[in-house]
Amino acid sequence: MLLRCPACGEGRLFAGFLQVVDHCAVCGTDFTRLNTGDGAAVFIMQISGGISAFLALGLQIAFAPPLWVLLIVAVPLVLALSFGLMRPGKGLMIAIQIGDRDRGASPHV
Ligand SMILES: [Zn+2]
Repeated sequence: MLLRCPACGEGRLFAGFLQVVDHCAVCGTDFTRLNTGDGAAVFIMQISGGISAFLALGLQIAFAPPLWVLLIVAVPLVLALSFGLMRPGKGLMIAIQIGDRDRGASPHV
């Protein structure tokens, strides 16, 4: 979740916003065979959507503001949470896959 190699904690994990490096520059861990798919996105949609929906619901119950107030609060919040959590979420999925691979628990990686 710190955007570092899950094996050594030192090397950078991402080459771009969501582009994972092929190998860790510090310990050489191979990331080419990992595939997190949409796993992180699914969790992040649920987390950011849940937080934003309950915040909007709370605002509506407490203050009954006009619809445009809910939109200017909820939409930027969803975007900020989604983009803010995407890289740590993907890093977490990679770390879980590496942990499974090291334990021999996952035949897919
Ligand atoms: Zn490393």
